[in-house]
Amino acid sequence: MSAQILDGLAYSKQVRQQTLEVIKGLSRPPELGIIVVGQDPRSAVYVRNKQRAATEVGIQCHVCPCCAEISTTGLIHVMGSNNKHPAIDGYIVQLPLPAHIDLDVVANGVDPEKDVDGFHPLNQGLLLRGSPRFVPATPRGIIELLKHNGCTISGKRVVILGRSTIVGRPLAAALLLNGALGDATVTVAHTKTEHLQEVCREADILVVAIGRPRFVTSDFVRQGAVVVDVGINKTNGGLCGDVDFASVKEVASAITPVPGGIGPMTIAMLLKNTLESCQRRTMRGK
Ligand code: NAP
Repeated sequence: MSAQILDGLAYSKQVRQQTLEVIKGLSRPPELGIIVVGQDPRSAVYVRNKQRAATEVGIQCHVCPCCAEISTTGLIHVMGSNNKHPAIDGYIVQLPLPAHIDLDVVANGVDPEKDVDGFHPLNQGLLLRGSPRFVPATPRGIIELLKHNGCTISGKRVVILGRSTIVGRPLAAALLLNGALGDATVTVAHTKTEHLQEVCREADILVVAIGRPRFVTSDFVRQGAVVVDVGINKTNGGLCGDVDFASVKEVASAITPVPGGIGPMTIAMLLKNTLESCQRRTMRGK
């Protein structure tokens, strides 16, 4: 039997429409900054998509391009302008950054109250402690798409393949939250995990974020499991995920496609985080 397709593109449009309706009722439009370093062609596509989506829902989006040679100190200076700018409700530094930039310094440089990507250590800590200010966009998008499609998370065994700071780790923390978002039983697997296929086959929900085209085949998936493919890989045959969609859809009960799954949900959640930041700042008179 073929799996239900968890259509992130369709649901992200609904979320964006809801975001637009809320923004129409605000006293001022939310403002989002995007700092871009260098001219990575994939980043350029992501930034254009974010900018277009923001504009469509009524968020004013300011893209700040920096040259690829900018130093970490120079980038911190640019971030400082966004931190101080009274109208900016939130901003992101588009990843990946050139290798010479110190990512830890950058993560520490963003004003935690404008950190709509949830990268600042303080926001990571708040998420781990169970009282998040911003749930990073990709983990939030995964959870909202599952909930929207009626996939129960509470009490379920979720295996996350990949432990990056932008997907695997914050997703694990979000799924462990008490109540609305989480209450899952979480395992995080990575390159050193022994018996990887067996571990993945224990999952009720398997989330894959490793950056390896079609790595997860049906051998990794228990009959009836829900499979979320976060991967975005450019191959000669076009874009594909980390999951071998053709074989896995025959054993899973539900699966996200690539493209059209978690990618558009991530953008929708960035906009939601920006809106919520604007609402919080407005309440504080900013
Ligand atoms: P990353 O920083 O490169 O981390 C990859 C993780 O996968 C690491 O924890 C690594 O383990 C693990 N891993 C790699 N190969 C593995 C293997 N063969 N077996 C087990 N674990 C393995 O990647 P990322 O930034 O999280 O991105 C992952 C993928 O998601 C990429 O394709 C990226 O483009 C995509 N992505 C999509 C979105 C979206 O909006 N849809 C957002 C972010 C990322 P170790 O820690 O042991 O090295």
